[in-house]
Amino acid sequence: MTKFEALGLEKSLLNAVSDMGFESPSEVQEKAIPILLESDTDLVALAQTGTGKTAAFGFPLIQKIDSNSRTTQGLILSPTRELCLQITNELQLYSKYEKNISVVAIYGGASITEQARQIKRGAQIVVATPGRMKDMISRGLVDITKIDYCVLDEADEMLNMGFFEDIQDILSNTPNEKSTWLFSATMPKEVAIIAKKFMHSPKEITVGAKNYGATTVQHEYYLVSGRDRYPALKRLADTNPDIFSVVFCRTKRDTQKVAEKLIEDGYNAGALHGDLSREST
Ligand code: AMP
Repeated sequence: MTKFEALGLEKSLLNAVSDMGFESPSEVQEKAIPILLESDTDLVALAQTGTGKTAAFGFPLIQKIDSNSRTTQGLILSPTRELCLQITNELQLYSKYEKNISVVAIYGGASITEQARQIKRGAQIVVATPGRMKDMISRGLVDITKIDYCVLDEADEMLNMGFFEDIQDILSNTPNEKSTWLFSATMPKEVAIIAKKFMHSPKEITVGAKNYGATTVQHEYYLVSGRDRYPALKRLADTNPDIFSVVFCRTKRDTQKVAEKLIEDGYNAGALHGDLSREST
């Protein structure tokens, strides 16, 4: 028996796992999958991106979905469209040997008509960003009143981005008797409020040590006020003339602004960003 088999996964999922080249379950998978398969329980999992958490909720979700029904049974909320597409893509790979399971992504900045059409064809699993989801609910384009499973992925990130109200609105459209699985890297107050308000005696798991940097890399940081940030960056560049560096910014606009200023000031710089900005509906 493989380690994945021991977790209780059925053959079709095991075949997909082997196609994906996964050899053994990650820690979050080992902890979450048996709990989620065994009973219909709520779950709070403290786990970061990169820990294999998508499969930790994705495998049990796919296994539990009734593929004979076209009703939407599972809803996954995620903070950004990139993550939404990534989850959808992963779930489609995991369910490649399941007959008739349809996973549809709903996110802002793309045609709502096309997304509505996909939902209408029958999507048992919907992966959505909160803004677009709320919009589609209010226009009657998606029905989540019969879901059995709701996953809140990167809950802390969703709340950081100001989706508290939207999440509450969306959850209030779901039935009371469902399982809610909340994944978050951290547990700030707002996440605890959501857990308390919408979950029933959730089981809890924590995965691994958080946020360790590579030990071979020296880390330094400087606390500067917003308006000193750019001069500080320039000073760092000037004191390290041979430096090759990557400057991470929060938004696409910031990356453009920083790159433009650096170029103006005679540095060899360029902006790099996906053309996907934060969700807009
Ligand atoms: P996630 O934390 O869900 O974003 O997953 C991070 C990456 O790990 C994804 O590319 C997954 O395809 C991959 N992954 C998930 N589970 C496993 C596993 N058990 N073995 C190897 N890779 C995995």
